[in-house]
Amino acid sequence: MSNSTYSDIGNFADPFPDETLHSLCSRLFDRTRMSNSKVLINELFGSTSAASIVDLPCRLNHFVAVLPFGHCYTVDILLNNHTLLPFYSAFLPVQRVEQLKQDMAGNNGLKAQMRCGGTSSSIRAYSWLRFCPTCTKDDKAQYGSFYWHRLHQVSGVEVCPVHKVFLENSSFKARERRIRYELISAKKAIQPTPARLTDSSNPSHQTLLKIAQDVDWLLSHPNFVPGLESIRDRYIKLLIERGLATYTGQVHIQKLTQALNDYYSPELLKLLQCEIKEGDNNAWFLRLVRSPKHSCHPLYHLLFIQFLEYTVEEFFQLSSELNPFGDGPWPCLNPVCPHFRQLCIQTFELKRDKTHGGRQTATFSCECGFVYSRMGPDTSSHDLFKVGKIKERGKIWKAALEKLWNDPTVTLMEMAKRLGADSQSVKYHAARLNLSYPRPGPTARQIQKTVAPALESKEVEPAKLAEYRYEWLEVLQNNPGAGRSELSEQHRRVHSWLSFYDREWLYDHLPPLKSRPPVLAQIDWQQRDTEISIAVRHAAEQLRNKPGKPERLTKTAIASNSGYLALIQKQLNKLPLTSETLIEVIETTEEFAVRRIYWVAERYRQEGICPKAWQIIRETGIKPYIAEMPQVKEAIASVINLPELKWLN
Ligand SMILES: [Zn+2]
Ligand SMILES: [Zn+2]
Repeated sequence: MSNSTYSDIGNFADPFPDETLHSLCSRLFDRTRMSNSKVLINELFGSTSAASIVDLPCRLNHFVAVLPFGHCYTVDILLNNHTLLPFYSAFLPVQRVEQLKQDMAGNNGLKAQMRCGGTSSSIRAYSWLRFCPTCTKDDKAQYGSFYWHRLHQVSGVEVCPVHKVFLENSSFKARERRIRYELISAKKAIQPTPARLTDSSNPSHQTLLKIAQDVDWLLSHPNFVPGLESIRDRYIKLLIERGLATYTGQVHIQKLTQALNDYYSPELLKLLQCEIKEGDNNAWFLRLVRSPKHSCHPLYHLLFIQFLEYTVEEFFQLSSELNPFGDGPWPCLNPVCPHFRQLCIQTFELKRDKTHGGRQTATFSCECGFVYSRMGPDTSSHDLFKVGKIKERGKIWKAALEKLWNDPTVTLMEMAKRLGADSQSVKYHAARLNLSYPRPGPTARQIQKTVAPALESKEVEPAKLAEYRYEWLEVLQNNPGAGRSELSEQHRRVHSWLSFYDREWLYDHLPPLKSRPPVLAQIDWQQRDTEISIAVRHAAEQLRNKPGKPERLTKTAIASNSGYLALIQKQLNKLPLTSETLIEVIETTEEFAVRRIYWVAERYRQEGICPKAWQIIRETGIKPYIAEMPQVKEAIASVINLPELKWLN
């Protein structure tokens, strides 16, 4: 038995792709015919007390120095291509990666393991070295030899991403303390084993496959160190988009826990040593989203990134900047603009609002002239389509208003709906545009003067003037038969403003002077009942079609919207028809749930997202027992199976 001679190392052969340093040494050992691998290790690394060389070998300076003359290996090449460093480095602080490299080049193997969080994490490396039966066959054919792959030795990699088969344990427990100096080559420790295929319809198998693909990407992208802060910012940003965190970085812990538990099966998490325990305040995923003080095992990150529906590669390409109004572009929200709800606005103007605790307000302007603002931060992606305040309606909107206003077949309500405004603002803008009032056509109510007269020269904003005029016309319209003094008393603000700034116009728009006898007519209940029941039906319809989040059609909501709340509350016994109509239009729990489901599904559709059942349930806030009702179940099934939604995904 010879002691170390440098001629032994002369048998050194180039490493294979993704081969571990341990594997390389083992093959060398096989060729030297030495009887004791400790001797070779001592020769290569200058010590036998070096920690395990399977994952994070150290003393690489020595190793490179003793290689035969003319080799082209550097410490960096070995670190990047033949150790597990790139698996860890992407999820470590930038500075620590540099220290780690020094540790591995020098004499600090144990420190290196600690720097990777290897000792603090509950994820243990397998003691067996592992292999893919199909890779092994291919290696034999291509390189004439078996070898240990780096990728197959990573905790959490259970399948081969190339062949989509499960990895197998070899007979070599390389990570056991007492035999860690042994150099057992793959040739000696691998028995021919039939490959166990993964099942493409099994979600857990798909998760394992994606983890393996991600690890493969990490190993082939060394020197990729984004830093912990930027990783955490990306997490928060994606959680906000999913309604699982606020813009202040507050994570909805319960919701998040639930969502993770829905995403991964407990068996899978157990297999990966990443279980989620009930009420654990220090759960791995919570450590990931907190301000990062310590690094976490990469497998936790990979699971979390996959839960957020990204690959590692895509995830690192995301911007980590937290934008309180999303990344843009932003939609035009003018219903008559050809770009309505299309993401056509590229930038916005940002202001801090002093009156609201310094909250940021963004102003978005479309080419059509429509300008709106919204106070941030957005709390979910639905906010993208929210208007806080309309600042300018723009030329296209005004042209549409003029056209509709002059079209006698369009009712005011219809017009308001099409223009995305309430009827008051429609009238107000019609006044600003000097459109004729009342509107042309038989349905328009006749009020003494048909055309608003020219403005007087008093110092008054025309918009303000128009606003007051129309307020007054409304007063007249809503109080037929009321006398002048009654109106001026009950509507003092508008009356006195007009009598100061616009006296002449006001006088032209007062009720006739002649006094009327008080109305003492007997109430015709049958007639009233018919009227009210029509109003009720109409009110229900209006509530149902109201834009925005659905509100439940309750008796009170409908009654108050119909304008007959008091009568319905107190005299319903005299209104049989109304009573019947109410029963018909009031929504049951089930009906309301169904309506919300369609509403949420529509939101998803507009954003091009194909929702899962749990997302629909979460967004609608439907209680579990309601989600189980047949009608509701059917509705959920129908919206997650819409062909157009599927297509968009
Ligand atoms: Zn393979
Ligand atoms: Zn527009």
